[in-house]
Amino acid sequence: MRNRYNYLKWNLLLRVLKQKKITIKKVFNVFVCSLAYVLKSKKSAKSPFILSLELWNECNAGCLFCRDAKGVIHDINPEGSKGAIKKGKMPLEMAQEIIDQVKSRVLIAVLYTNGEPLLYKDLHKVIRFATDRGVATMISTNGLKFTQENITQILTAGIDFIKIQLGGFTQDVYSIQIRYGHVEKLKENIRMLARANRKGKYNMLILIDFILYQYNKHQVDDVRKFCDDLGLMMNIRPGNPKCGLEDKEPPLSLEPLPLQISCDWLWKGMQVNFNGDILPCCETVIWSGSKPYEIFEVGKTNVMDVWNGPNSIAMRKMMTTQGRAAHPMCAQCYRRGVEFKW
Ligand code: SF4
Repeated sequence: MRNRYNYLKWNLLLRVLKQKKITIKKVFNVFVCSLAYVLKSKKSAKSPFILSLELWNECNAGCLFCRDAKGVIHDINPEGSKGAIKKGKMPLEMAQEIIDQVKSRVLIAVLYTNGEPLLYKDLHKVIRFATDRGVATMISTNGLKFTQENITQILTAGIDFIKIQLGGFTQDVYSIQIRYGHVEKLKENIRMLARANRKGKYNMLILIDFILYQYNKHQVDDVRKFCDDLGLMMNIRPGNPKCGLEDKEPPLSLEPLPLQISCDWLWKGMQVNFNGDILPCCETVIWSGSKPYEIFEVGKTNVMDVWNGPNSIAMRKMMTTQGRAAHPMCAQCYRRGVEFKW
């Protein structure tokens, strides 16, 4: 069953209310984005309510479904060639300027897309910048790079939510999918994070995301106990066996492609890649040949102009008149709503 993350959403809402990161203006922006989606308007609200930034697409874990052993990111475009997805870092000023432009309307800034956010040395500066402007932030991480220092940095900077991937409870199981990393070190890192969160009374939300396969399902109870002992939320989502586990695991059992449903992202969320490419959604960063709405230039571009500019409008029109099937990237996409993918 698709996870609606209702418990998480409720807790996140309570947290950001307490942190005074929600305003009437932001709620109104969500309402107008949602109404524009329902009415299929060519324009949405003044700003998206979800902003997703790819700070750096490098990663230290090397999960099979994401990249090859040399770190080359898999391209989801079947027409793409190996190595077509380029790597790079977003300059700090770019991340800050984008957040500054949408600060009064955006609900949350998602500070990762395809890379490991803890590798980005200025992560805490981006979080602090967003917090100072009343913008909630979240990351998803493999957790292997946590240190006492960066934990303190991001907690004091005001991060609201961290999701941590855990694909097994013992090394032999964990390393089937995740090429690099030691699960005992990861568990110790998670304990360190939970301790620091509790000790400093930060009340930041932590969710352990268990990626379920046939090979690790016997460890679900161990992970559940681990989370219960530390007071952490736990989620179980299906693992993707592509790129290495196809002969060991059954294929993902997927719902039919939602080809008749317009995609919410075009009215509600915006993605900016490390190089400034302004894109409709996070799928586009790993679809080679994605044409950006525009390329963000520090001091020149305003993302809110792009959000309701001609290229965004053209994409919305395509979605409403021809549907997802009109674009090869959307035609293969299972996303519904603006939730996590699984
Ligand atoms: S349908 Fe999928 S690929 Fe297309 S814009 Fe929406 S989320 Fe992105």
